[in-house]
Amino acid sequence: MDLPRTDIYLDGAWAAPSCGQTIAVHNPATEEVLASVPAGTAADVDRAVTAARAAFPGWADTTPAQRSATLDRLHTALAARAAIAAETVALELGTPLKVATRVQVGLPLTVLRSYVELAARPPAEETIGNSLVVREPVGVVGAITPWNYPLHQVMAKLAPALAAGCTVVLKPSELTPLTAYLLFDAIHEAGFPPGVVNLVPGTGVEVGEAIAAHPDVDMVSFTGSTATGRRISHLAADRIARVALELGGKSANVILDDADLPTAVKVGVGNAFLNSGQTCTAWTRMVVHRDRYDEALNLVAKAADGYRTGDPFTPDTRLGPLVSAAQRDRVTGHVTRALTDGGRLIAGGPDAVLPERGWFVAPTVIADVDPGSALAQEEVFGPVLAVIPVDDDEAAVAVANDSRYGLAGAVWSADEQRAVRVARRIRTGAVDINGAPFNPLAPFGGYKQSGLGRELGRYGLDEFLQTKAIQR
Ligand code: NAD
Repeated sequence: MDLPRTDIYLDGAWAAPSCGQTIAVHNPATEEVLASVPAGTAADVDRAVTAARAAFPGWADTTPAQRSATLDRLHTALAARAAIAAETVALELGTPLKVATRVQVGLPLTVLRSYVELAARPPAEETIGNSLVVREPVGVVGAITPWNYPLHQVMAKLAPALAAGCTVVLKPSELTPLTAYLLFDAIHEAGFPPGVVNLVPGTGVEVGEAIAAHPDVDMVSFTGSTATGRRISHLAADRIARVALELGGKSANVILDDADLPTAVKVGVGNAFLNSGQTCTAWTRMVVHRDRYDEALNLVAKAADGYRTGDPFTPDTRLGPLVSAAQRDRVTGHVTRALTDGGRLIAGGPDAVLPERGWFVAPTVIADVDPGSALAQEEVFGPVLAVIPVDDDEAAVAVANDSRYGLAGAVWSADEQRAVRVARRIRTGAVDINGAPFNPLAPFGGYKQSGLGRELGRYGLDEFLQTKAIQR
């Protein structure tokens, strides 16, 4: 790996940042410092936005075929770095290498491929009466991303924004910026026109706020916590800039009484613990019909105990550390509180044996969780599953909807139509039935405080387009 990283990426080239301060990047499995990156400033954001503004008319004027071809070159350059990208995610975030390869790097490559194809098709225009309705790129996009899927969250913004003809200034999470640097090596190799894509690493308070408040940023596309999303909305509202927000979640996995229980539990636990539970769509509440509750708890405890916690580079590790000491402390605090709130520990917990070094939390399952308690209401972002019994479908829907979030969820039933009926009543942006596969072309996003707008596929591209009516 090319470390340390000392530059920011501006106007088609690596450039010195305006100030010499740096941010240390840690390996959460060892607690050691891995590398450092520049601490960008508002002045750097201004330079990047100026470059993106200057590049916008030219990029917006390229043909769909030209934009598609550039994204295709980026795909080639990134695919050539897939192995090092997976290692980088494993190092700076702690995702087990196998999962990092398949999900953390495999998924963004799939998403980028989908936008190579979508970029090639010009956005549909239509005639309504005497109006020609055309679609045009929004302009300069500020993208601010979190640490939990450091390549995917960036790609879910960059690829559709660029496909639409927008130019971009990216601020990746200060906890996991090294993966973004690798992406920019690929971007440089792909040969975008200068200023089309720019990278300013740094903290949220300095660089993130400067992007959200910049008068020349037309749209802010943000993924992260609901609290930060609210702050960014306020900053953007001052100049009526568009915002797209992908925020937190507290998704319910509803297991009906006729479900294939072993599969529902196995897939459900896998989903809740993916990436050490640091997944916004994680099914963190398992809602089970009372008739099958005891049977489900046995299966859940066994499944959770099978998760080996440890070094992300050891092949049989299924659970890596959490990203930071602060996250680890937050998560263990949630577990302690849930147990005092009357939850029953059935796996993991505060006394489980863990590696001596690293910010690890044991895979933890708490049963009999009160749907109104903090564990059932707050996003934990760690490997902690709450199990809640219910009496019937009506109660299952009520518990699933008893949340200020509305991102994702699941329903399991032998009767698909019954499952679809329940899914339609759950107020979230997505519901998976019986472990259906992830669809990278389907719209992804939240109801309620889980966000505004949609990512991925055609819907994700639409976020970066304006609509104009030309009357004739
Ligand atoms: P966070 O909100 O702290 O940070 C996200 C990004 O925003 C980072 O780049 C950070 O530096 C920046 N930021 C922080 N404060 C800022 C400010 N005042 N102004 C501008 N930018 C600021 O979130 P996180 O801890 O990195 O990520 C975890 C959260 O993200 C969880 O709540 C999770 O649910 C959510 N998330 C949501 C999705 C989704 O698609 N819905 C995906 C992943 C993560």
